[in-house]
Amino acid sequence: MSHIFLASPHMSDEGYEKEYIKEAFDTNWIAPLGKNVNEFENEIKDKLGAKAAVALSCGTAAIHMAIKSLGVKKDDIIFCQSLTFSASANPITYEKAIPVFIDSDESWNMSPVALRKAFEKYKDNLPKAVIVVHLYGLASNIKEIKEICNEYNVSLIEDAAESLATTIDGKYTGTFGDYGIISFNGNKIITSSGGGMFLANTDDADERAKKVLFWATQAREQARHYEHKEIGYNYRMSNIVAGIGRGQLKVLDQRVIKKRYIYEYYQKELGNLEGLTMMPRDKYKSYSNCWLSTIQLDENCKVRPLDIIIALEENDIESRPIWKPMHLQPVFKDYDYIDNDATSERLFNNGVCLPSDTKMSDEDLNRICKIIKGLWE
Ligand SMILES: *Cc1c(COP(=O)(O)O)cnc(C)c1O
Repeated sequence: MSHIFLASPHMSDEGYEKEYIKEAFDTNWIAPLGKNVNEFENEIKDKLGAKAAVALSCGTAAIHMAIKSLGVKKDDIIFCQSLTFSASANPITYEKAIPVFIDSDESWNMSPVALRKAFEKYKDNLPKAVIVVHLYGLASNIKEIKEICNEYNVSLIEDAAESLATTIDGKYTGTFGDYGIISFNGNKIITSSGGGMFLANTDDADERAKKVLFWATQAREQARHYEHKEIGYNYRMSNIVAGIGRGQLKVLDQRVIKKRYIYEYYQKELGNLEGLTMMPRDKYKSYSNCWLSTIQLDENCKVRPLDIIIALEENDIESRPIWKPMHLQPVFKDYDYIDNDATSERLFNNGVCLPSDTKMSDEDLNRICKIIKGLWE
């Protein structure tokens, strides 16, 4: 029996990605710029309804650029969702700013109640930005979070790395914040083999995008020689990578259908097991991309997350705990954290990310469910 991945790259059956790469080879537009990069930006912009987009080497770089766009300086404060992957928070430290981690609520994402508490606590030293995440493709309570940010006149960065194609009330995630970021890393719902995009949704979106493009290509001033007035970065996406991304974008909606099917399969097969609940999908009038199907076990459930992870591992099947909150990470232990009844910690202690690879067959899904159900017998 073959290995089952948590989530792995899944190229189109039609071979769209190869066509775009071939075109890049044929026109010798291998690197770094070229038609694929520009078209990939336009296609993402059109699909999501963002005002401006810049293709970068990864989602982490996009978060870094969003932070720089806000003029964040040393010792500035940034509020960041605690329950996330470290890449949401790491770029805060690249600019020597100070993260304050915010707990989650029943949406699994940032708690507006905790966010209000944070603003109250820091009212004399307001943050430069709030970073909210749509974890596992689950919608955050973005409307309320945005309202709070507006009240305090603080910018919102929306980390949509895991939620590409998730909509809230018909609008795509990544387009709610002043800046949005997406990722095309290998494990995401679509992949360019590695890459990301910076999205700007502000009134001055084109100007912001231009500046990000400038920083991301080594901050070269207009001159015949190399002239630099600012520190630059080598963050631009290559034309080959963009070709893969363009091909993948054509099958994004198909991938969402399969991801949701996987979620529903687990719900049907596992949803009745005592003490097990599926992640809260489609809150706030959202339509989730269901990037990873995740579950929670009651504290007193006889089966623990590790039992499931090990049982699957013994059968060559990959699963993973819920992301460990940033405020519990050794590297961030000295930073402030605003609690909401220890929600993120509880989600971490009691959760499992089940295999969510879109290449899985019904047979694979059945095999996984049988192993898990066996633990309840
Ligand atoms: C993957 C991910 C990122 C970073 O994206 P990369 O393209 O891997 O740099 C950022 N935030 C979250 C929540 C992610 O899952």
